[in-house]
Amino acid sequence: MDYEKKGSTSFSKGLLQSEELYEYVLETCVYPREPEPLKELRDITATHPRAVMATAPDAGQHIAMLLKLINAKRTIEVGVFTGYSLLLTALTIPEDGKIIAVDMNREAYEIGLPVIRRAGVENKIDFIESEALPVLDDLLANPGNENSFDFAFIDADKINYWKYHERLMKLLKVGGIVVYDNTLWGGSVVMSEECTPEVMKESRQRTLEFNKLLAADPRVEISLAPLGDGITICRRMH
Ligand code: SAH
Ligand code: CA
Repeated sequence: MDYEKKGSTSFSKGLLQSEELYEYVLETCVYPREPEPLKELRDITATHPRAVMATAPDAGQHIAMLLKLINAKRTIEVGVFTGYSLLLTALTIPEDGKIIAVDMNREAYEIGLPVIRRAGVENKIDFIESEALPVLDDLLANPGNENSFDFAFIDADKINYWKYHERLMKLLKVGGIVVYDNTLWGGSVVMSEECTPEVMKESRQRTLEFNKLLAADPRVEISLAPLGDGITICRRMH
Protein backbone atom coordinates (compact mmCIF):
# COMPACT_ATOMS: atom_id res chain seq x y z
CA MET A 1 0.00 0.00 0.00
CA ASP A 2 1.20 3.45 -0.83
CA TYR A 3 0.47 4.97 2.51
CA GLU A 4 2.30 2.16 4.26
CA LYS A 5 5.45 3.06 2.34
CA LYS A 6 5.09 6.79 2.83
CA GLY A 7 4.92 6.36 6.56
CA SER A 8 1.60 8.13 6.96
CA THR A 9 -1.27 6.22 8.44
CA SER A 10 -4.99 6.81 8.70
CA PHE A 11 -5.42 5.15 12.10
CA SER A 12 -3.96 6.55 15.30
CA LYS A 13 -0.18 6.55 14.90
CA GLY A 14 0.54 5.29 18.35
CA LEU A 15 2.48 6.99 21.04
CA LEU A 16 5.98 5.73 20.36
CA GLN A 17 8.32 8.72 20.32
CA SER A 18 9.87 7.86 16.99
CA GLU A 19 7.69 7.51 13.92
CA GLU A 20 10.46 5.49 12.23
CA LEU A 21 10.37 2.96 15.05
CA TYR A 22 6.62 2.61 14.73
CA GLU A 23 6.89 2.16 10.95
CA TYR A 24 9.54 -0.48 11.57
CA VAL A 25 7.19 -2.43 13.87
CA LEU A 26 4.33 -2.21 11.37
CA GLU A 27 6.37 -3.17 8.35
CA THR A 28 8.41 -5.92 9.98
CA CYS A 29 5.89 -7.61 12.25
CA VAL A 30 2.37 -6.44 11.59
CA TYR A 31 1.59 -5.88 7.90
CA PRO A 32 3.21 -9.10 6.68
CA ARG A 33 0.99 -11.11 9.07
CA GLU A 34 -2.23 -9.10 8.75
CA PRO A 35 -4.99 -11.27 7.24
CA GLU A 36 -6.14 -10.13 3.77
CA PRO A 37 -9.72 -9.20 4.83
CA LEU A 38 -8.36 -6.98 7.61
CA LYS A 39 -6.06 -5.21 5.14
CA GLU A 40 -9.04 -4.67 2.88
CA LEU A 41 -11.14 -3.28 5.72
CA ARG A 42 -8.27 -1.02 6.76
CA ASP A 43 -8.03 0.34 3.20
CA ILE A 44 -11.76 0.99 2.99
CA THR A 45 -11.75 2.65 6.41
CA ALA A 46 -8.80 4.90 5.49
CA THR A 47 -11.10 7.02 3.31
CA HIS A 48 -13.60 7.57 6.16
CA PRO A 49 -13.39 11.04 7.74
CA ARG A 50 -13.18 9.45 11.18
CA ALA A 51 -10.64 6.77 10.16
CA VAL A 52 -8.43 7.68 13.09
CA MET A 53 -10.91 5.89 15.39
CA ALA A 54 -10.11 2.48 13.92
CA THR A 55 -8.00 0.14 16.02
CA ALA A 56 -4.33 0.38 15.06
CA PRO A 57 -3.12 -2.84 13.41
CA ASP A 58 -0.32 -3.41 15.95
CA ALA A 59 -2.81 -3.15 18.83
CA GLY A 60 -5.07 -5.50 16.86
CA GLN A 61 -2.30 -8.06 16.50
CA HIS A 62 -1.78 -7.96 20.26
CA ILE A 63 -5.49 -8.45 20.89
CA ALA A 64 -5.54 -11.45 18.53
CA MET A 65 -2.69 -12.95 20.53
CA LEU A 66 -4.64 -12.54 23.77
CA LEU A 67 -7.75 -14.11 22.21
CA LYS A 68 -5.67 -17.13 21.14
CA LEU A 69 -3.88 -17.45 24.48
CA ILE A 70 -7.13 -17.77 26.41
CA ASN A 71 -8.93 -19.65 23.63
CA ALA A 72 -11.74 -17.07 23.73
CA LYS A 73 -15.14 -18.18 22.45
CA ARG A 74 -17.75 -15.92 23.98
CA THR A 75 -16.84 -12.26 23.54
CA ILE A 76 -18.27 -8.77 23.80
CA GLU A 77 -17.28 -5.75 21.73
CA VAL A 78 -18.38 -2.22 22.60
CA GLY A 79 -17.67 0.28 19.80
CA VAL A 80 -17.63 -1.30 16.34
CA PHE A 81 -17.19 1.64 13.90
CA THR A 82 -16.32 0.04 10.51
CA GLY A 83 -15.38 -3.20 12.23
CA TYR A 84 -11.59 -3.56 12.28
CA SER A 85 -11.40 -4.97 15.81
CA LEU A 86 -14.65 -6.87 15.25
CA LEU A 87 -13.40 -8.61 12.11
CA LEU A 88 -10.09 -9.28 13.82
CA THR A 89 -11.93 -10.99 16.68
CA ALA A 90 -14.24 -12.90 14.34
CA LEU A 91 -11.25 -14.19 12.33
CA THR A 92 -9.43 -15.24 15.50
CA ILE A 93 -12.05 -17.04 17.60
CA PRO A 94 -13.08 -20.61 16.66
CA GLU A 95 -15.94 -21.53 14.30
CA ASP A 96 -18.41 -21.88 17.19
CA GLY A 97 -17.28 -18.61 18.80
CA LYS A 98 -19.68 -15.68 19.26
CA ILE A 99 -19.31 -11.92 19.50
CA ILE A 100 -21.95 -9.63 20.92
CA ALA A 101 -21.05 -6.40 19.14
CA VAL A 102 -22.66 -3.14 20.21
CA ASP A 103 -22.60 0.24 18.54
CA MET A 104 -25.25 2.93 18.72
CA ASN A 105 -24.62 3.73 15.07
CA ARG A 106 -24.94 1.03 12.42
CA GLU A 107 -23.89 3.21 9.51
CA ALA A 108 -20.14 2.68 9.79
CA TYR A 109 -20.64 -1.04 10.43
CA GLU A 110 -22.43 -1.27 7.09
CA ILE A 111 -19.23 -0.08 5.39
CA GLY A 112 -17.27 -3.02 6.76
CA LEU A 113 -20.02 -5.60 6.53
CA PRO A 114 -19.35 -6.72 2.92
CA VAL A 115 -15.76 -7.53 3.87
CA ILE A 116 -16.94 -9.40 6.98
CA ARG A 117 -19.40 -11.38 4.82
CA ARG A 118 -16.79 -12.25 2.21
CA ALA A 119 -14.47 -13.41 4.99
CA GLY A 120 -17.20 -15.86 6.00
CA VAL A 121 -17.40 -14.85 9.65
CA GLU A 122 -20.69 -12.94 9.87
CA ASN A 123 -22.29 -15.99 11.53
CA LYS A 124 -20.14 -15.37 14.63
CA ILE A 125 -21.43 -11.82 15.05
CA ASP A 126 -24.53 -10.64 16.83
CA PHE A 127 -24.61 -6.90 16.05
CA ILE A 128 -26.82 -4.80 18.32
CA GLU A 129 -27.49 -1.18 17.38
CA SER A 130 -27.81 0.46 20.77
CA GLU A 131 -26.14 2.37 23.55
CA ALA A 132 -23.88 -0.19 25.17
CA LEU A 133 -24.79 0.21 28.84
CA PRO A 134 -28.41 -1.04 28.55
CA VAL A 135 -27.20 -4.00 26.47
CA LEU A 136 -24.82 -5.05 29.24
CA ASP A 137 -27.63 -4.61 31.77
CA ASP A 138 -29.93 -6.76 29.62
CA LEU A 139 -27.27 -9.46 29.53
CA LEU A 140 -27.00 -9.31 33.31
CA ALA A 141 -30.77 -9.63 33.67
CA ASN A 142 -30.26 -13.24 32.60
CA PRO A 143 -28.27 -14.96 35.38
CA GLY A 144 -27.05 -17.51 32.82
CA ASN A 145 -24.80 -14.81 31.36
CA GLU A 146 -22.94 -14.21 34.62
CA ASN A 147 -19.35 -15.51 34.63
CA SER A 148 -19.82 -16.67 31.05
CA PHE A 149 -17.73 -14.43 28.78
CA ASP A 150 -14.08 -15.08 27.96
CA PHE A 151 -13.21 -11.70 26.54
CA ALA A 152 -14.40 -8.12 26.01
CA PHE A 153 -13.01 -5.21 24.02
CA ILE A 154 -14.27 -1.82 25.16
CA ASP A 155 -13.71 1.00 22.68
CA ALA A 156 -16.54 3.53 22.97
CA ASP A 157 -17.91 6.13 25.29
CA LYS A 158 -14.76 6.71 27.37
CA ILE A 159 -16.60 8.61 30.08
CA ASN A 160 -18.52 5.50 31.10
CA TYR A 161 -15.62 3.04 31.25
CA TRP A 162 -16.00 2.44 34.98
CA LYS A 163 -19.69 1.62 34.53
CA TYR A 164 -18.72 -0.94 31.86
CA HIS A 165 -16.07 -2.32 34.16
CA GLU A 166 -18.53 -2.91 37.01
CA ARG A 167 -20.78 -4.89 34.68
CA LEU A 168 -17.93 -6.79 33.03
CA MET A 169 -16.68 -7.95 36.41
CA LYS A 170 -19.92 -9.94 36.59
CA LEU A 171 -20.16 -11.00 32.94
CA LEU A 172 -16.57 -12.22 32.51
CA LYS A 173 -15.44 -15.59 33.73
CA VAL A 174 -12.76 -15.64 36.39
CA GLY A 175 -9.62 -15.69 34.22
CA GLY A 176 -11.44 -13.78 31.48
CA ILE A 177 -9.92 -10.69 29.93
CA VAL A 178 -11.22 -7.23 29.16
CA VAL A 179 -9.18 -4.81 27.07
CA TYR A 180 -9.93 -1.10 27.37
CA ASP A 181 -8.81 1.05 24.46
CA ASN A 182 -7.55 4.64 24.49
CA THR A 183 -6.40 4.58 28.10
CA LEU A 184 -3.66 7.12 27.30
CA TRP A 185 -6.18 9.31 25.48
CA GLY A 186 -3.88 10.84 22.89
CA GLY A 187 -1.21 11.37 25.52
CA SER A 188 -3.49 13.86 27.27
CA VAL A 189 -3.12 11.99 30.59
CA VAL A 190 0.17 13.82 31.10
CA MET A 191 -0.92 17.20 29.72
CA SER A 192 -1.78 20.04 32.03
CA GLU A 193 -5.45 20.95 32.17
CA GLU A 194 -4.70 24.31 30.45
CA CYS A 195 -2.84 22.71 27.54
CA THR A 196 -5.54 20.09 26.94
CA PRO A 197 -7.76 20.89 23.94
CA GLU A 198 -11.32 21.66 25.06
CA VAL A 199 -12.81 18.62 23.26
CA MET A 200 -10.51 16.25 25.16
CA LYS A 201 -10.99 17.70 28.64
CA GLU A 202 -13.85 15.61 29.97
CA SER A 203 -12.54 12.34 28.53
CA ARG A 204 -9.09 13.15 29.84
CA GLN A 205 -10.47 13.65 33.35
CA ARG A 206 -12.49 10.43 33.20
CA THR A 207 -9.52 8.51 31.79
CA LEU A 208 -7.34 9.72 34.66
CA GLU A 209 -9.98 8.60 37.17
CA PHE A 210 -10.51 5.29 35.39
CA ASN A 211 -6.80 4.44 35.27
CA LYS A 212 -6.51 5.17 39.00
CA LEU A 213 -9.55 3.09 39.89
CA LEU A 214 -8.31 0.16 37.81
CA ALA A 215 -4.89 0.29 39.43
CA ALA A 216 -6.60 0.02 42.83
CA ASP A 217 -9.07 -2.69 41.84
CA PRO A 218 -8.20 -5.98 43.58
CA ARG A 219 -10.49 -7.95 41.24
CA VAL A 220 -8.12 -7.61 38.29
CA GLU A 221 -4.53 -7.97 37.20
CA ILE A 222 -3.67 -5.15 34.82
CA SER A 223 -1.17 -4.19 32.15
CA LEU A 224 -1.29 -0.90 30.27
CA ALA A 225 0.42 -1.56 26.94
CA PRO A 226 1.38 1.58 24.97
CA LEU A 227 0.01 0.23 21.69
CA GLY A 228 -2.20 2.45 19.56
CA ASP A 229 -3.65 5.01 21.95
CA GLY A 230 -2.91 2.82 24.98
CA ILE A 231 -4.70 -0.44 25.75
CA THR A 232 -5.22 -1.67 29.28
CA ILE A 233 -5.48 -5.42 29.59
CA CYS A 234 -7.36 -6.60 32.69
CA ARG A 235 -7.62 -10.20 33.79
CA ARG A 236 -10.41 -11.00 36.20
CA MET A 237 -8.83 -12.74 39.18
CA HIS A 238 -11.84 -13.51 41.36
N1 SAH B 1 -13.29 -0.68 17.64
C1 SAH B 1 -13.53 0.14 16.46
C2 SAH B 1 -13.50 1.63 16.77
C3 SAH B 1 -14.64 2.10 17.61
S1 SAH B 1 -14.82 3.86 17.56
C4 SAH B 1 -12.51 -0.20 15.37
O1 SAH B 1 -11.62 -1.02 15.57
O2 SAH B 1 -12.61 0.38 14.29
C5 SAH B 1 -16.09 4.14 18.70
C6 SAH B 1 -17.47 3.69 18.30
O3 SAH B 1 -18.26 3.73 19.48
C7 SAH B 1 -18.20 4.57 17.26
O4 SAH B 1 -18.56 3.78 16.16
C8 SAH B 1 -19.45 5.09 18.01
O5 SAH B 1 -20.62 5.06 17.22
C9 SAH B 1 -19.60 4.10 19.14
N2 SAH B 1 -20.22 4.61 20.39
C10 SAH B 1 -19.99 5.80 21.00
N3 SAH B 1 -20.70 5.88 22.14
C11 SAH B 1 -21.36 4.70 22.29
C12 SAH B 1 -22.24 4.16 23.27
N4 SAH B 1 -22.58 4.87 24.35
N5 SAH B 1 -22.71 2.93 23.09
C13 SAH B 1 -22.38 2.21 21.99
N6 SAH B 1 -21.55 2.66 21.04
C14 SAH B 1 -21.05 3.88 21.17
CA1 CA C 1 -10.20 3.25 20.03
